[in-house]
Amino acid sequence: TYVVTENCIKCKFTDCVEVCPVDCFYEGENMLVIHPDECIDCGVCVPECPAEAIFSDSEPQATEQWLEINRKYSELW
Ligand code: SF4
Repeated sequence: TYVVTENCIKCKFTDCVEVCPVDCFYEGENMLVIHPDECIDCGVCVPECPAEAIFSDSEPQATEQWLEINRKYSELW
């Protein structure tokens, strides 16, 4: 899965949402999150993010903490 991280906080852009083929972005408290069970790992959102906030869970920036936040807030919907 891909994971939204720190740089997304208070970002007002939604370019990622517009390109995601499976609509797996959801609103968190002050940032967007990706539903880990819905993301198909296409990677299309990464270059669209002007804040460079999205990482693959295979990358070190996608920490356990961010994985949990993405899961928690995406499952509220
Ligand atoms: Fe959506 Fe693809 Fe980004 Fe996953 S990697 S959130 S499926 S655009």
